[in-house]
Amino acid sequence: MSTAPQQVRHLIGADWTDSADGAVFETRDPHDGSLLGTVARGGAADGERAITAARTAFDEGPWPSMTPKERQRVLHAVADAIDAHRDELALLETRDAGKVLGHMQHAEIPRAAQNLRFFGDYAAMAANDAYPDGALLSYVLHPPAGVVSAISPWNAPLMLASWKFAPALAFGNTVILKPAPQTPLTAARFAELALEAGLPEGVLNVVQGFGGDEVAGPLTSDPRVDRITFTGSTATGKKVAGAAAQNLTPISLELGGKSANIVFDDADLDVATDVAIKGVFAGSGQVCLAGTRLLVQRGIYDEFLARFTEKAQKLVVGDPKQAGTFMGPLIEEPALDKVHGYVELAQSEGGEVVTGGARLTDDGLANGFYYPPTVITGLTNIARTAREEIFGPVQTVIPFDTEDEALRIANDSDYGLAGILCTQNLDRAHRLAAQWRTGMVWINCFFERDLRLPFGGEGISGVGREGGQYSREFFTDPRAVTLRL
Ligand code: NAD
Repeated sequence: MSTAPQQVRHLIGADWTDSADGAVFETRDPHDGSLLGTVARGGAADGERAITAARTAFDEGPWPSMTPKERQRVLHAVADAIDAHRDELALLETRDAGKVLGHMQHAEIPRAAQNLRFFGDYAAMAANDAYPDGALLSYVLHPPAGVVSAISPWNAPLMLASWKFAPALAFGNTVILKPAPQTPLTAARFAELALEAGLPEGVLNVVQGFGGDEVAGPLTSDPRVDRITFTGSTATGKKVAGAAAQNLTPISLELGGKSANIVFDDADLDVATDVAIKGVFAGSGQVCLAGTRLLVQRGIYDEFLARFTEKAQKLVVGDPKQAGTFMGPLIEEPALDKVHGYVELAQSEGGEVVTGGARLTDDGLANGFYYPPTVITGLTNIARTAREEIFGPVQTVIPFDTEDEALRIANDSDYGLAGILCTQNLDRAHRLAAQWRTGMVWINCFFERDLRLPFGGEGISGVGREGGQYSREFFTDPRAVTLRL
């Protein structure tokens, strides 16, 4: 693959096009600041053009009226194209997002392909409701909703986008995808591959650029859009909800988190340490689901903190293209400033930095946005560091005595996205899962995902759920039909 900077355009209908006003922005490698591409910077006019293309493809094109099995065949072909270009897509993503190359090759890029296959299969094979009742037969149809705006973040670009476009397409909708401006590359390359693999023109449109005053504006406020699926920060999610409310457009919002990870004194400490490390430092902590509040039962607190800190200190931070790297750079300089600002805030709140806590500039890292695994103790759950989403490799460790206290602290958050729990007491595990105000609970593991499960959060972590039947509810307009026999 050429490493020369790319020219990235919007895909609108069948055309790769510049912005109407010719505006562009740059995308750079967070490892060393090198230029990766010059990207069309969409304005409202470009968003509107993409909606027109998606609307036309929905109203006049073949996609919505194809059978689910026909769409399944196309989505499998698109998934095969992803697999065939796995290494190319992985490297693009690694350079654009700073994510570890091996993880891209073996987890996130294959997962994007798997999402397409899963939802293609699901739409073709899902069970349906029918209620024979004497002389009446009632059943449910699931026609596609129409035009879907899919707005995604930078922290797992193609994989997160595929959680949106895969179900939206599988259920017969047409899509306008807007990737985050930090990571425009894989969405554009994916769209090329999808067209080559047989996706009809206009069914997937990709517009590049920024938020509500620019290309994303019409995607959330134009009445020709039938669904908005958004993943990003809670602050932006509120703006999207406000814009969507003007047309009563249904929204699915996957937002931020401040999840607790509870380690009980009966846990397998090897498992709990691995889960806690992955839970907060994978992806350099830039993971919505991250278990950023580590609650450790007092009897094992010192031992567990020592194990966890030792393991954190051994994690290899560096060039994400190198084998053996566990953490790459943060996405951009403002992210670095934000993370470090929270570490300083933690210290001013009385916290102690046990390890980490300063930008890394050694060994060729000076031109990148590198921050080490950072562990903070001495704070309670009322500290801002324990309440606000930092979105970086920062772990706050808090001791607790009883199960009730752990649950109270875990639930004492405006967020409610995920929860992690390590114990060998299954009664306790089920009890807590039932009382935890959170969208997802992982017990003795983290980030395993069955695509049939609901994905989403409570509180300010989001609105709605996606996955399996939940995606079908969202991306279709369920219709009740009753027939007198
Ligand atoms: P962000 O909110 O800044 O941006 C997300 C997307 O929204 C981008 O494409 C951006 O260009 C677009 N956008 C910005 N302003 C907009 C507006 N007014 N209207 C419409 N779109 C607009 O988020 P980010 O920094 O890209 O991503 C990090 C955040 O995403 C974190 O809070 C993280 O927790 C969250 N996240 C959540 C999940 C989840 O599934 N719950 C997954 C990944 C990331």
